[in-house]
Amino acid sequence: LSAPVSLDAFWMPFTANRQFRASPRLLASAEGMYYRDVEGRPILDGTAGLWCCNAGHARPRIVEAVSRQGATLDFAPHFQMGSPLPFVLAQRLKAIAPRPLDHVFFTNSGSESVDTALKIALAWHRMRGEGQRVRLIGREKAYHGVGFGGMSVGGLPNNRKWFGPGLPAVDHLRHTLDIARNAFSRGLPPHGVELAEDLERIVQLHDPSTIAAVIIEPISGSAGVILPPPGYLQRIREICDRYGILLIFDEVITGFGRVGAPFAAQRLGVVPDMMTTAKGLTSGCVPMGAVFVSERIHEAFMQGPEGAIDLFHGYTYTGHPLACAAALAALDTYEEEGLFTRALELEEYWQEGLHALRGACPHIIDIRNYGLIGAVELAPRPGAPGARGYEVLERAFRRGLLVRVTGDTVALSPPLIVERTHIDDIFSMLGEVLATIQ
Ligand code: PMP
Repeated sequence: LSAPVSLDAFWMPFTANRQFRASPRLLASAEGMYYRDVEGRPILDGTAGLWCCNAGHARPRIVEAVSRQGATLDFAPHFQMGSPLPFVLAQRLKAIAPRPLDHVFFTNSGSESVDTALKIALAWHRMRGEGQRVRLIGREKAYHGVGFGGMSVGGLPNNRKWFGPGLPAVDHLRHTLDIARNAFSRGLPPHGVELAEDLERIVQLHDPSTIAAVIIEPISGSAGVILPPPGYLQRIREICDRYGILLIFDEVITGFGRVGAPFAAQRLGVVPDMMTTAKGLTSGCVPMGAVFVSERIHEAFMQGPEGAIDLFHGYTYTGHPLACAAALAALDTYEEEGLFTRALELEEYWQEGLHALRGACPHIIDIRNYGLIGAVELAPRPGAPGARGYEVLERAFRRGLLVRVTGDTVALSPPLIVERTHIDDIFSMLGEVLATIQ
């Protein structure tokens, strides 16, 4: 970048706009575990971009695959024709997905994956003569993207309240973040499995045969890292099964190795009926998402011409060749470098380093971790919620570390190529910064 950058014309994501303009942080390049800002300063990536660059940045194999594909077949329409790439990619994804999630539908983002999954759920019930199943259940504090469906089932007030009432017939389960009982526990929080009974409460508020689907992030990121107590997701699965409700896991951040398995469903031992993914699918370098659906759902859509002939859903860029090329090269990288299990191998080292931050600042009220995910939650400053979190983000960036904050929770999710020395650097820089927070 040689010319000075004007911040005038581009509108950043709404609420971030003013903070960014007050203190711009511009990233100019990236390689491996590091960004560089426009002044050439290295910034250690503690967040894999936005939970997406799981193979690290600018990996030559991925970049070259995208470039080659662009020069070979840049775009292919795909409704009555298509390129072979999405078919090849779907086979590869089937091989790493939990059974029986054997089919994938491609999208271009996490938000599109979520809205697609919700639509599939509604259509599936309708195809089976259960068109009265229209009610959707999300959770408080959940983040499912910014599409109209994802917004409606999501539970973060600033993503919802400005945009009207959202979809009708949506309920929100209580979330499982219970610091009073679980503060500073390591891994999954020991207490709170009974919160799954909140689903039974909501089901009983309605006629159970009107409920279409429950959508849950097995581990939420954007809401500040909320972990499920052991047995919680199993209980949600049981209740869904009892009432014929579809269970959707939103694995947009947990997919592609973040917790030490290709998908959190596998490590946590609960298989949903659908799984929404994006981010790590291409290691962040080209936008792409995918919805995984179970065999029984896919079959209903493929039943003869009478079944599905007048149903349409799909995007111009569904299965885009460049995105498929990126995803195939990312999968090769994950598999050959053992990155799907790397979070498991490093989990204890990560956990020890993270929890050693506890004394760094008197305002820390909780530390949470699972796989290569970490969170440090600070008590809000009286009268200024979010101020401490934002100070951590700003000072960490100046110190040379990229973190993510939601309110006063600092979240970490480094690329899976992270080495122990990077982990040491992340916690040493973060510790220094936390020590300055009043
Ligand atoms: N679902 C979850 C769980 C997410 O974390 C996100 C993004 N942070 C989304 C959906 C939306 O993804 P996108 O921003 O790619 O639309």
